[in-house]
Amino acid sequence: MRKKIVVIGGGLAGSLLCNKLVKDADVTLLEIGRKNSIQYPKIAFDRKKLAEVATFCYGGGGTTNLWHNGLIPLSQGDIVSRDFAEVVAEALPFTDAAASALFFSRDSYSLAYTGLVSEVSGVAARIGMVADGIDCLVYPKKFNRLEIDSRVDELYSVAKIGFVCDGQRITTVTCTAGERAYSVDADVVIVAAGALGSPKIIKELLTVSGNSSDGLGAGFIDHPMGFVGKVRFNKEVAGLVRQLSIYDRGDYVSRNAIRLRSACGRYTCCAFFRPALTMDNRLDIYKYKSLLGASSGLARIRNGFSFKIFHPDIVAEIVAHLFGVTIPSRTFNILFIAEQKRGGNRVYYDGEDLRVDWSISADELAVYRALLKKLEGVLRPVAEEVNLVTDITEDWLWSAAHHSCTVPLGNSPEDLVDKDLKLKMLENVFVCDGSIIQEHSYANTGLAIGQLAFRLARRVLDEK
Ligand SMILES: Cc1cc2nc3c(=O)[nH]c(=O)nc-3n(C[C@H](O)[C@H](O)[C@H](O)COP(=O)(O)OP(=O)(O)OC[C@H]3O[C@@H](n4cnc5c(N)ncnc54)[C@H](O)[C@@H]3O)c2cc1C
Repeated sequence: MRKKIVVIGGGLAGSLLCNKLVKDADVTLLEIGRKNSIQYPKIAFDRKKLAEVATFCYGGGGTTNLWHNGLIPLSQGDIVSRDFAEVVAEALPFTDAAASALFFSRDSYSLAYTGLVSEVSGVAARIGMVADGIDCLVYPKKFNRLEIDSRVDELYSVAKIGFVCDGQRITTVTCTAGERAYSVDADVVIVAAGALGSPKIIKELLTVSGNSSDGLGAGFIDHPMGFVGKVRFNKEVAGLVRQLSIYDRGDYVSRNAIRLRSACGRYTCCAFFRPALTMDNRLDIYKYKSLLGASSGLARIRNGFSFKIFHPDIVAEIVAHLFGVTIPSRTFNILFIAEQKRGGNRVYYDGEDLRVDWSISADELAVYRALLKKLEGVLRPVAEEVNLVTDITEDWLWSAAHHSCTVPLGNSPEDLVDKDLKLKMLENVFVCDGSIIQEHSYANTGLAIGQLAFRLARRVLDEK
């Protein structure tokens, strides 16, 4: 008999899960947003705002409506938690399937990625710019938001999601959509409402099953990122740096970064190099660049009405973006992507209101400063000029929109989900989305979420 599976949240993880599971099971999707348009939930920030632009949205396809579809795996060696490292290792065989569902059009993402890393490492060695290795972020040129298979029963604009619990099993999921109330029988429930959405659903599940947890939402991490300086390379290596910065492979491009590992070995950050025209190192221009890059549609046009659009570095970005040409300059922006570990940040709900308590700790800033000094040391021998802010403050950094780690995973008693992504207190509830990514060094999380979704689909379908 086909299993009845309810998936809550139709974003990156939820869409991939629905589309995979519906081949062998009866799948119902409950999505808070509308099918073909997005809304931005109101988020109250206790301390630092995540970014000037929205980094999370409701609606079919979830945050894939906003994303850039860059694909990069989590590096095993960067993960400190043994439990999570095991989960990531088990998801490895699903890399190519996940990349293919995320618009990588060649046969094997893994092969392409391994080849790129080896090739770009060779270029970095020739430049003499060797830090702690290099990494490649692969962007398929053609991509869309994710769509749901027509065989899935889809309910949009859902509210008041509730659960009927029998012992340690959820038997029914209830909700409203429009004026109607729905009740859906479930053999399996999968929570995939994103790192900011899932804590609310899980809290309800814990309550209905007579449980509670202080850890829910408490580990929130993101990638603090920012443009932190400029570098003008020596003539002899400038051509090679242009090569290193971006590879165009026809149907995809690879943006390449140099990895920076902290002295304690716990943190791995990275730096990308993007062509620029001036050595100006102005935070207001960087913030504007980011605002323009991350906004779309009308918001982008509105943001275009600023005198800052005439700054040569912004013109260079626009030309590169519109015409796909890399400016043959020796000057590059340095884009720093930093790792956060779970600590003092959290996501929580005050009634219906979503609150995010995010900041960058003094310890993290100290690690980032040391790594930027290390980067300066790597660049000096091959550069004519380096204009880098190493004594960085948190004002230089904002969210890269890789919200993660709001649901603790592992074997410890305080962890809520086990290594099969099953909610420990209930026999038939799983969690799969950014919330269960426990660590992510500097890596965009989309591919990892996809790998985990495919691994979970196999697990759920195989279970008798
Ligand atoms: C501008 C931008 C660019 C990005 N670029 C990249 C990139 O290049 N590469 C990369 O890997 N990542 C990128 N990301 C991040 C990536 O989009 C997210 O990491 C990814 O979408 C997270 O997937 P998810 O399934 O965890 O959550 P989401 O995709 O956000 O999906 C969560 C879904 O759950 C729904 N939901 C929420 N609450 C409820 C509820 N109570 N009931 C029912 N449904 C609910 C939401 O409406 C949404 O559809 C980018 C993000 C942004 C904002």
